[in-house]
Amino acid sequence: MDMVVRTSRAPEAGETLFGQGFALSPGGKGANQAVAAARLGAEVAMIGSVGRDAFGSELLEIMRQEHIDVRHIAQSNSQATGVASIVVDGEGENRIIVVPGANIELGPADIQALEHVISGAEMIVMQLETDLPMCEQAASIAQRHGIPVILNPAPARELSQEMLRHVTYLTPNETEAGILSGIEVNNTETADQAARILLGKGVRNVIVTLGSKGALIVNESGNAQHIAGFPVQAVDTVAAGDSFNGALAYQLTRGVALEEAVRFANAVGALAVGKEGAIPSLPKLPEVEQFLK
Ligand code: ADP
Repeated sequence: MDMVVRTSRAPEAGETLFGQGFALSPGGKGANQAVAAARLGAEVAMIGSVGRDAFGSELLEIMRQEHIDVRHIAQSNSQATGVASIVVDGEGENRIIVVPGANIELGPADIQALEHVISGAEMIVMQLETDLPMCEQAASIAQRHGIPVILNPAPARELSQEMLRHVTYLTPNETEAGILSGIEVNNTETADQAARILLGKGVRNVIVTLGSKGALIVNESGNAQHIAGFPVQAVDTVAAGDSFNGALAYQLTRGVALEEAVRFANAVGALAVGKEGAIPSLPKLPEVEQFLK
């Protein structure tokens, strides 16, 4: 749950200020990605954990309303629902503290008990606001059953070679591609170089998202293709990457070729940045189809 406070400036240590506004906004990368895919028509089951508290119940209800299977979302008795405390100052600059809470309570043993859920899926989508060993375990189970894995490596964390070998599609943004590859990424050329470093570590396909510039695919044969973004008036870039990942998963499970899937995901990302908020900004299929006409 995002807790957003608007203020003219951030307070100094020991200082109390009056803020200009407060909003609660359901979010979290996993939830955003799940809703993005579900709104397009994918059948989505989410694995995760919330607290046994008001935020937890509210988030579960939101997922249910989006027709997401929440049977594998645990409710922790000991940890609170994960929150992000976000202070937005007068310049629009964010200061964010994420408290993962129940999110990191799920570990490898919990995921092992859900092997039947993973093996019955057509695609696994993961992000890194969770326990890393749990993600590694999920990727390894998926690999064993031949289930493709999309890993959105956000927030960027160091990933083992073992983990990277189990990833079918890695989808960093430019910053994350830079951190994971060790080189600075700020254009298509450097994104290509970073993607090749990551392919060298065993990832099958790398898709670097490039904000308004769209995305760069470097596939398992080493072929690079830049798929241009759609020009839109960006209102709020929150959940751009999440909407992209949900859309990519939806398209790939329908058997759409990677280039076409990325073009579609670019359209979904563009629509998401054209609206305020995370979950409220995620488009439904007819809106995307209309946009692509
Ligand atoms: P993240 O949100 O993870 O930082 P990006 O900024 O790369 O990721 O955005 C993800 C995708 O969303 C992009 O690949 C693109 O398709 C779309 N997108 C993001 N920003 C814009 C924008 N200003 N205009 C059009 N599309 C955008």
